[in-house]
Amino acid sequence: MKGPTPRRVWKYVTRRLGLKGYLQSPGDGRSRPQIPARVLLWSILIGQLLRECSFHAVEALVASSARAALGLGASFGDDALSYFTERLQAAPTRTALATVIRRAKRNKAFDHSLFIGLAIDGTTVGRCRQSGCSLCRPFRNQSHQIVGYRHHIAMISVVGTGLSLPLDVEPYGPGDSEYAAGQRLLRRAVAHLGVRFADYVVVDSEYATAPFLHVVGELGLQVVARLKANLPELFQAAQDRFRCQPPTARFQEGPDSVEVWEADDFTAWETLHWKSVRVVLYRQRKPQGQVIEAFWLTDFRTSRVSSRSLYRMAKSRWEIENQGFNEAKNRHGLEHICHHHSNSLVIGWLLTLLALTVERLYRLRYLHRGTHPVRTAIDLVQLLWLSLSRPPVIDTS
Ligand SMILES: [Zn+2]
Repeated sequence: MKGPTPRRVWKYVTRRLGLKGYLQSPGDGRSRPQIPARVLLWSILIGQLLRECSFHAVEALVASSARAALGLGASFGDDALSYFTERLQAAPTRTALATVIRRAKRNKAFDHSLFIGLAIDGTTVGRCRQSGCSLCRPFRNQSHQIVGYRHHIAMISVVGTGLSLPLDVEPYGPGDSEYAAGQRLLRRAVAHLGVRFADYVVVDSEYATAPFLHVVGELGLQVVARLKANLPELFQAAQDRFRCQPPTARFQEGPDSVEVWEADDFTAWETLHWKSVRVVLYRQRKPQGQVIEAFWLTDFRTSRVSSRSLYRMAKSRWEIENQGFNEAKNRHGLEHICHHHSNSLVIGWLLTLLALTVERLYRLRYLHRGTHPVRTAIDLVQLLWLSLSRPPVIDTS
């Protein structure tokens, strides 16, 4: 099979993923564009795939002899990218992400999974000394003095399928909250993906509040949420009951042995309109002796979802931390401010997600056809870089 090159990735994105229309018309808001939107957008996306995430690095790439191999016709400066991203509408990129993920499901990318999950969580990105945009939130020291500014986003990702695909981000600026941003994000994701796309939403304990759980139910999804001391009565009731009982199930999960305690008749707290709450405690023992315990609550009935499936759903929350935030921050510059403008920031975060999703589908599904082993992310980056040193082969197909 032919090795990966930026031009082959372009072909994959435009033909296989169906993003030709989006790349041609990504919602350009410039009044008299000199450089086509397609060129600027692709330069950011291919820069992401090569892990060259700053606008300066993209400028250097397109000014180099690799420009033709990157599939870019014109050279331009980083200021062109700043001007472009200030004015690019976010909605078409969000639609493009959802299109790719819906298509992945249609093409059976998640077929080995019994349940498809959506994980939501918040994180901090883009730290700076001076306030530079409407999304900057002041960061205070212990004496409540402002010592800098930060940006905060909530992210949503498809999880629990063996293929983590980040889908969307929602910023929350001053006066807003992660919890409100998470609700907007979930409503938009379901509107884009359709009500039958996913089975459950998995979240950490700060989202385990009646209004958020009601929104999940309204959208036709079920929820798996971490239970901690922020729901003191339910947390105490679960501890009191489980501590004096033998486990309800035991199973082996890979090298780990897992014990589970569960019951589905806990009383819902006052504001939660559920008949009862199912609570699960798992104790996971790793072969080296480390023990991990956590309580979770859910509205999945025991007859529909076993404690083992519930354990896996709870564990799928880690994907948004590891394959979501960690990868996006450590390898794709999610924390870097390319251009300090609120719309540029949102576009930058969304394009990082699009690059991650495209990279995973290309590497783990498209390139993996046949019998050869899966290419690692670093293998793909190296192959793409090596291809830039060869003269481009003009493909007339
Ligand atoms: Zn800002």
